Amino acid sequence: MRIERCSHCERAFHVAEIGGAMPGTKEREDISCPHCRYTYTETSNGAFRTTPLSAVEERAFDEANPIEYRRTEKTYGIVVTAATPTDEVLAKIGRLRHACGDRIAILALGPDDVRARPDWRTIASECKAMVKHLSVEYVTQARIDALVSQISILA
Ligand SMILES: [Zn+2]
Repeated sequence: MRIERCSHCERAFHVAEIGGAMPGTKEREDISCPHCRYTYTETSNGAFRTTPLSAVEERAFDEANPIEYRRTEKTYGIVVTAATPTDEVLAKIGRLRHACGDRIAILALGPDDVRARPDWRTIASECKAMVKHLSVEYVTQARIDALVSQISILA
């Protein structure tokens, strides 16, 4: 069992290689992201089974392996806490309508799982209407202060 990050939606997931008792029969087998169904292949004697991480596991993985924001991409960061109202988040996303950005990074500050917000589907779909890439990063205030020089954080 290993953890991979999907190159399409950039979320982490478990990959387990199953079967494979027949050596010498390596074939290309599908690895399919359990979040967005993006699929790529790798050789295996058996097959691959993918499963999502628990929210706690995913957060721990993301904290240990933060997403690297590329200089070639225009990234806008939106800080979201449990107390941030939906309207405020959507208003910030709306400001990017004419910004020609490549990525929105939701910077989740605080202990809460941002993807468990009841408005998460709305937030995610609004982001995807504006930019190609949406990512979520769990951050501390110190990380936000460091990111200011790398991405545009919406005030
Ligand atoms: Zn994916």
